[in-house]
Amino acid sequence: MSIEYSNRLRFCCSLFRDAVGDGTQQGLCIVPCRSKTAGDFFFLEFHAVAVCDEEKLDTPDVRIVYGVQQAISYCPWCGAALREFYADLFDLLPFANWEDRPKGWGPAEESSVDDCR
Ligand SMILES: [Zn+2]
Repeated sequence: MSIEYSNRLRFCCSLFRDAVGDGTQQGLCIVPCRSKTAGDFFFLEFHAVAVCDEEKLDTPDVRIVYGVQQAISYCPWCGAALREFYADLFDLLPFANWEDRPKGWGPAEESSVDDCR
């Protein structure tokens, strides 16, 4: 997937630029997120399958982990402090709205201990 970027946008490094995405495709991805309550932040995510394929894998008896996400403060490749580096550039990134992310990849849903029994 090729993303068109503004000429005004600069990246901390080419590896970070190549990894930026919307977090819906299979593989490793950096997802810039904007939250109404938490502000701007970045996720490093790994998706075992594309988000559109997740529900095809679930069975009533087995709960499958589709991938992992971790909020990050520094670029995993060059070490740039992301909030500072992208403070004036964040609006130019293809950021996702945290509250609108796909089920399981956005704000935590109501759950209980019984979900794991
Ligand atoms: Zn970097």
